[in-house]
Amino acid sequence: MFLEPNFRGQRSGWIEVVCGSMFSGKTEELIRRLKRAKIANQKVQIFKPATDTRYDVTNVVSHDENSILSVPVKKSRDIIKEAVGYNVVGIDEAQFFDMELVKVAQHLALKGIRVIIAGLDMDYKGVPFGPIPHLLAVAEYITKVHAICPHCGSLANHSYRLSSESSQVVLGEKDKYEPRCRICNKMGNILDFSDK
Ligand code: ZN
Repeated sequence: MFLEPNFRGQRSGWIEVVCGSMFSGKTEELIRRLKRAKIANQKVQIFKPATDTRYDVTNVVSHDENSILSVPVKKSRDIIKEAVGYNVVGIDEAQFFDMELVKVAQHLALKGIRVIIAGLDMDYKGVPFGPIPHLLAVAEYITKVHAICPHCGSLANHSYRLSSESSQVVLGEKDKYEPRCRICNKMGNILDFSDK
């Protein structure tokens, strides 16, 4: 489990990346870290790309007194002014943001903000997704979370697309994707899993 670094003399903020496939618990891990910071009286905020329309604009990510509202932003650059006054900034679904998010995250960290980024590391084809690979390079801390392959029980690190759509961004949940391990993902539709 990730534990926050705590030593005297830390002069800047830092960047944490939580990545993995769909259904791996990325957002839950992001929220876990933010809620703990909030309990410690730190000011926290979550940003999401406005293009992610699966959830309501004023999405409440949890329902207790520690709930954190997420703010939809169109461009990663907009996060800079929206983040003023916060100690900890969460960025969810970061793979959908533009490449400038890499600079934005570094800027915020320089300003003393702890930046926690969650996103898909690979698209449905297994290709590194948007700004995530670059964020992994510049981050101080990286956590890869995994789902479980429904076909064989291995750890799953791929987001297999069940529909035939071929563009990189197709929003959906269990209706369109399932987590798959390396081997089951490679088998694709060649294997018929329906007898399992
Ligand atoms: Zn499998």
